[in-house]
Amino acid sequence: MSKIWDVAIVGSGPAGSTAAMTLAKAGFKTVLIEKDKLPRYKVCGGAIPQEFVEKMKIPNEIIERKFDSLILHHLGDEIYRKGEGACVWRSDLDKYMTDLAVNANATLLEGSKIIKATSKNQIFTLFTYNSKIQSRILIAADGVPSTILKSFGWKSFPQNDIAQTLTYEIKISEKNIDKRLGETSMHLYFGKKDICDIGYAWLFPKREVISVGWGCELSKIKNVREEFQNFLKIVKNVIHDGKTIKKAAHLVPVGFQNKFNDNGLVAVGDAAGFVDPLSGKGIAYAASSGVIAGKVIKKALEEENKQIISTEYEKELNSEFLKALKAKKKIQPDVYKSDDNIRRFLNLWKDNRSTIIAQKLWDLKDN
Ligand SMILES: Cc1cc2nc3c(=O)[nH]c(=O)nc-3n(C[C@H](O)[C@H](O)[C@H](O)COP(=O)(O)OP(=O)(O)OC[C@H]3O[C@@H](n4cnc5c(N)ncnc54)[C@H](O)[C@@H]3O)c2cc1C
Repeated sequence: MSKIWDVAIVGSGPAGSTAAMTLAKAGFKTVLIEKDKLPRYKVCGGAIPQEFVEKMKIPNEIIERKFDSLILHHLGDEIYRKGEGACVWRSDLDKYMTDLAVNANATLLEGSKIIKATSKNQIFTLFTYNSKIQSRILIAADGVPSTILKSFGWKSFPQNDIAQTLTYEIKISEKNIDKRLGETSMHLYFGKKDICDIGYAWLFPKREVISVGWGCELSKIKNVREEFQNFLKIVKNVIHDGKTIKKAAHLVPVGFQNKFNDNGLVAVGDAAGFVDPLSGKGIAYAASSGVIAGKVIKKALEEENKQIISTEYEKELNSEFLKALKAKKKIQPDVYKSDDNIRRFLNLWKDNRSTIIAQKLWDLKDN
């Protein structure tokens, strides 16, 4: 009879690796399955907050650039916001985090794309092109769109809960990046008139490359290429002599799944929609959801009671970050209603955490 893992996790991004680390550390037979071979390029701005750097003990070698501020551009004006963090390549970050899981005794199956998943008699079966993997619990950490959730009939995100992004990685000398963008600033560009209807664009500098990105809610896009090219024109003084070394498109969820678990199937990270609907940040939430899923599953397996996942997973997510993300989702249409509203929000964000602003505006709306 083939081996039955306690937990199979599909996807070795920040959500999958933290879930694997938590469960393997607790002594469960844990397999982490990744379609690519690590390290692999993953399209992402790679900006992570300082708390995450410290919590995950991110080593200096993989930090491309530290930052201490965000420059918020809006229709030609600049607003300065303090904000500490680091910019990394996801190839390095994800390899580092996956190694933590492997060192904790998780088994990593790289280059193994799951094409379908089924369940019968409380056992999940995952199919690659040439093998089968079985487990008692299954974690969907495979981002968007999620093959795993689709296999079990979960709905894909509607157009107003998903953003389309485009990225160019543009190589420029470190000296020129420092001169043109400042050594320690990330740049975000907002504006319904010149950037996009609901979303924003960014220049996130690594050491010798600028990740030039643009993201807009899918339902609001008129012409992706044209809108992205307009942004490139706006920042041409920064990138004009750079060499484009990579072009990539990817989706980001800006809304949530209707449920986060179902009878031993647990969704984490982007697959569940755990991304800040205002900023598109998702790395830290993905990692946090992986840890929470790991802890709740540990309890369920120890007590041989899967019901624990249903009663505790969402509760834990809410108290850690999900309640705040829901508030942001609720105020997002108002923030992006007009350029005046965007400016008001940016002026508040300048001195306050977006979570606090969202919570206050949400409370005002409800009362
Ligand atoms: C352009 C862009 C810029 C972004 N910038 C930032 C940023 O600066 N800061 C930030 O915090 N967030 C950013 N995000 C969001 C962030 O990238 C995600 O929220 C985060 O990667 C989610 O992590 P995850 O582990 O849930 O999924 P992912 O990181 O997407 O990982 C999923 C993994 O599953 C694997 N996989 C998928 N399907 C299968 C399959 N069938 N079988 C096996 N393996 C599979 C994939 O190869 C991948 O390794 C950005 C996103 C985009 C698109």
